[in-house]
Formats: sequence, C-alpha cells, structure tokens
Amino acid sequence: MLDADFFRRWMTVTAASVDREAERLTALDSAIGDADHGTNMQRGFRAVAASLEKEAPDTPGEVLTHAGRQLISTVGGASGPLYGTLLRRTGKALGDATEVSEAQLAEALRAGVDGVMALGGAAPGDKTMLDALVPAVDAMPDGFAAARAAAEEGALATVPLQARKGRASYLGERSIGHQDPGATSSALLIAALVEAAGE
Ligand code: ADP
Ligand code: MG
Repeated sequence: MLDADFFRRWMTVTAASVDREAERLTALDSAIGDADHGTNMQRGFRAVAASLEKEAPDTPGEVLTHAGRQLISTVGGASGPLYGTLLRRTGKALGDATEVSEAQLAEALRAGVDGVMALGGAAPGDKTMLDALVPAVDAMPDGFAAARAAAEEGALATVPLQARKGRASYLGERSIGHQDPGATSSALLIAALVEAAGE
C-alpha cells in the first residue's frame, strides 16, 4: 500500500530529477518552443518540494492536490496548469484514504490524464505530455517499472510526430524530428514513482 510518505517522496524525487534534467528540458524546448520548459518545471517542483516540507499533508490525495496547486500558482507556461490539473485531479480521485493501492493510483492517474485532455484539448499522437502519460497509465497494471518504460518509449516516439497542440504546433512540419519537452518531463515524473517505491 502507498501512504502519504510515499507520495511526498514521489514529489521530492521528481523535483530532484527535474533539477538534474532542467538544462536538457530547456534545450528540447528551444528546438520547438520558447526554451523555458526546464526552468518552468524547476520553479514549479522546487515550490512543491519546499511547501511539502513546510506543510505535511497527511493523506495521499492531499499531497497531490497540494502539489498541483503549487504548480498552478508558480508556473507561468502551459505546463503549469496542465501538470497542476494532472496532480489535482489525481489527488481528488484518491479521496481521503490514508493508504491506496497501486491499482487505485493507476485509476486515479487515469482521471488526472482525462483532466489534462479536457483542459488542453490534446489527444495521444499530438506530440505532447500525453504521449508519455497515456502509455504509462495503460502499463501501470504491470507495475511502476513497466509504466516507466512505457513513458520513456512514449517520449521517444514523439520525435517523428508533428505537433498539433501547444507552442510547437506553430512550427507545423518543422516540429518533426524533435522530442517533445513535456513528454520528456512526464517520463521523469513517472520514473520517480519507481525510485519513490524503492524498486
Ligand atoms: P509553454 O509552451 O507555455 O512555453 P512549457 O514550455 O513549460 O510551456 O511546456 C511545453 C509542453 O507542454 C509541451 O512540450 C507539451 O508537452 C505540453 N503541452 C503544451 N500544450 C499542451 C496541451 N494542449 N495539452 C497537453 N500538453 C501540452
Ligand atoms: Mg516553453
């Protein structure tokens, strides 16, 4: 079972991994966007980690809704409200249980991903974070490591796609041949589940 400590670890491991990869995320965004995805994610997840240190929400659902609110209020780019919605909706779906199963988390993440689709109007194949998140959620019944592999594969598979949503879509065919920054950061978020679980 996964408790509030696990969810706090998930967020702090994500923050550390975003810190390590920030330059790479920004470099990816400089090819097909405005070169701010690394700094956006860094600002957002540093705020999440700092606020979880100050306040210690005591249920899994509260940890995620709290983190989502931080992302929405600190990140200016499109990714702030989108990741914020992902975490808030996932947190809400977990309800007020003090411990949840991996299956419950998978189901809640599905609700979170639906929230991202509703907010941004994108679908898998549009070269966005959803190209990593949707395969990850689909693979989650096979465990976190399977979800991580699916997310990483999904992020790599954005390279040949033409962007149909977000800033990269303004480039039309010139968006082809580059990995999507948001799909790349989503793969970091999913990989952090494995580390948080100590697998
Ligand atoms: P901005 O595009 O405002 O500069 P970021 O650079 O932080 O914001 O984030 C860009 C990422 O956000 C993209 O790589 C993509 O994965 C994701 N994204 C953009 N628009 C959408 C959308 N409508 N739905 C889902 N993800 C999106
Ligand atoms: Mg950007």
